[in-house]
Amino acid sequence: MEASALGYFDHNATTPMRARARQVWLETAERHWHNPSGLYREAGAAKRLLEDCREAVADYFDVDDPERVVFTSGATEANNAVMRHLSLAVRGSLAISGIEHPSVAAAASTYFGNERLYPWSVDAPTGQVEVAALEEMVRRGGLGAVTIMAANNETGALQPWEAVADLCRQAGLPLHIDAAQWIGKCPPGRLAASAYLSGSAHKFGGGKGVGFLLLPPGDGAAFHAQVGGPQEQGRRAGTENLPAIAAMVEALQELESDRLTALAEGRAKERDAFEARVMETLDVRILARAGTRLWNTSLLVLPWGRNVKWLARLSQRGFAVSTGSACSAGKGNPSATMAAMGLDFEEMGRVLRVSGGPETRSEDWERLADALLEVAAEWRAEA
Ligand code: PLP
Repeated sequence: MEASALGYFDHNATTPMRARARQVWLETAERHWHNPSGLYREAGAAKRLLEDCREAVADYFDVDDPERVVFTSGATEANNAVMRHLSLAVRGSLAISGIEHPSVAAAASTYFGNERLYPWSVDAPTGQVEVAALEEMVRRGGLGAVTIMAANNETGALQPWEAVADLCRQAGLPLHIDAAQWIGKCPPGRLAASAYLSGSAHKFGGGKGVGFLLLPPGDGAAFHAQVGGPQEQGRRAGTENLPAIAAMVEALQELESDRLTALAEGRAKERDAFEARVMETLDVRILARAGTRLWNTSLLVLPWGRNVKWLARLSQRGFAVSTGSACSAGKGNPSATMAAMGLDFEEMGRVLRVSGGPETRSEDWERLADALLEVAAEWRAEA
């Protein structure tokens, strides 16, 4: 069954594989199962396909040199690899905010050590990191590198990565951008102009366990995500998952910038109408609403009850939503993003994240609002 028909509102956790990507995955597994590192004809064909895929990723991000593209198992691996690399390559501290994904935050803390992390403040109403605070850190000195996510996975808050990239260029600081939530929802713009850039296929219909890292111009030789094999020019050892890479590239090529711009404009209105309707009846708070957000995301603080109970009742009605990021949900860990947004532990237990997809229609948002209000009425009746 199609994701929209299932009331699927958890696209920030993962997306269904696009039909063409699935087909390419199967075809590649059938035709090009040979090891691209082999020296016979069939291996050569697999290698050529791999290099075509590399060029396609470079083209998508308007990057001249395909050698800047390293295929990985996803954004977690790419983020870990960059944090490790930067911790060894620079001398100073890393500017990092409290809203980063755990795959950046935990890797930064592991490789840099907490004493080399420079906390970067977040403006709670917009959910955005404060560029002025970074300017101040640069003025004070001691910074070695900067990491920023392009869009937050929980609030959907779009981050000022362009202004940060300009600032880093002027200050000569290496920059890492985790674009896992941006790619597939917004046009790529100049994301890859100068930064280390992480992306994940399963966030844009390309299948799980595959992603990429774009290296900044001229930084290829020193970089090692993994050692132990010659693959990816020695920068990421391990036999390449060619069917997954080819499927990811197919999904990436379907993301035309015009369509994404139209999506962002049209769909944000449908999400906003959902929020307005829910807020008319229920005393909910919507996080990062004062800023610019991804068109698909709404992070609600519910007025009462545990989020897992709301989630279960919505699930019974055919809706899949989340209690926040899939990475921190259900584990009893306070979410760093929500703490940075000023929520206390009790409020975190009332958070519900809904995230639509390109196929989510306005009727689906309306049905979700109906279901949410129905659950609230049912709950009130029980009290
Ligand atoms: N970064 C962000 C912002 C994410 O939302 C996610 C996935 O939830 C990741 C990184 C990890 O991506 P992957 O599942 O490809 O390891």
